[in-house]
Amino acid sequence: MSERSKIGRRFSELRGEEVVYAIHRQERTFLPARDHCPLDATRPGGPQTEIPFPSFEIAVFDNLFPSFRAPEGAAEVVVYTDDHDASFATLAPERAEALMWVWRHRYAELAARPDIDYVFIFENRGVEVGVTLHHPHGQIYGYPFVPPVAQLELAADRRLGGCAPCALLERELADGERVVHQNDGVVVYVPYAARWAYEAHVVMREHRPSLLDCTPDELRLLAAGLQALVRGYELLFERSFPYVMAVHQAPTTAARPDGHLHVEFYPPLRTADKLKYLAGSEQGAGTFISDTLPEESAAALREAIDRAG
Ligand SMILES: [Zn+2]
Ligand SMILES: [Zn+2]
Ligand SMILES: [Zn+2]
Repeated sequence: MSERSKIGRRFSELRGEEVVYAIHRQERTFLPARDHCPLDATRPGGPQTEIPFPSFEIAVFDNLFPSFRAPEGAAEVVVYTDDHDASFATLAPERAEALMWVWRHRYAELAARPDIDYVFIFENRGVEVGVTLHHPHGQIYGYPFVPPVAQLELAADRRLGGCAPCALLERELADGERVVHQNDGVVVYVPYAARWAYEAHVVMREHRPSLLDCTPDELRLLAAGLQALVRGYELLFERSFPYVMAVHQAPTTAARPDGHLHVEFYPPLRTADKLKYLAGSEQGAGTFISDTLPEESAAALREAIDRAG
């Protein structure tokens, strides 16, 4: 089988969705030894890594084991720091702010490509969500189609007759019980119908379709809001806190539909040592069953964020 044919997608008629096949990913680096981290800087006399510099601040490069690649999408790796033992929570505020500018630059460049309909910035953190490299990093996928979650959010806009995140933010602020943190740029809350026990959304106060529409101040405040949340997560159970972080923005199709920049966090932990598994109802019926109330999780999370602050 040629290398080219190892990437492909098939449309699942029964579910009405695309499934992507990237079978070379089976061979990707899996939890390498501490001194063979491919995301470290290449130090003099040390092993050659993915990053051919003796030190760096933030590095972006094409994923060596891509799920998408030109001319049908993109897959990039964003390394947050050359400090192997850092995390998004422990980055200096200036570095977290710089990361927002890197995200914005990648969004602009990938959005301009005709083969990319949706730019998705995300981070998988912790072995519980399948992380294969511990070094602090995130990823960016450029999808050659608008994926289902983005389509659901566009459908919510149509259902509510306007921007859904704007409407939901207004409701959350009026209610207030699930708001866990806020600054002048963003509001952080556990959503009314959270699927995960400690799910949280970091939402721009103003209607900003993407990172490109944010002021420099808003980018700084977004970074601050994200860091406040993940620092609270770290304190919540006094253990390293796994999550999936998903940055939702406007799709980048030729039609340029609207969107409202927000960042969703899906942590799999229900308690300090219990994971939520997607089982019968979630997988077979598509309905989440939660055994915690969003209001109670929000109270605990708010307390942890205040303590971290
Ligand atoms: Zn490393
Ligand atoms: Zn909006
Ligand atoms: Zn969203």
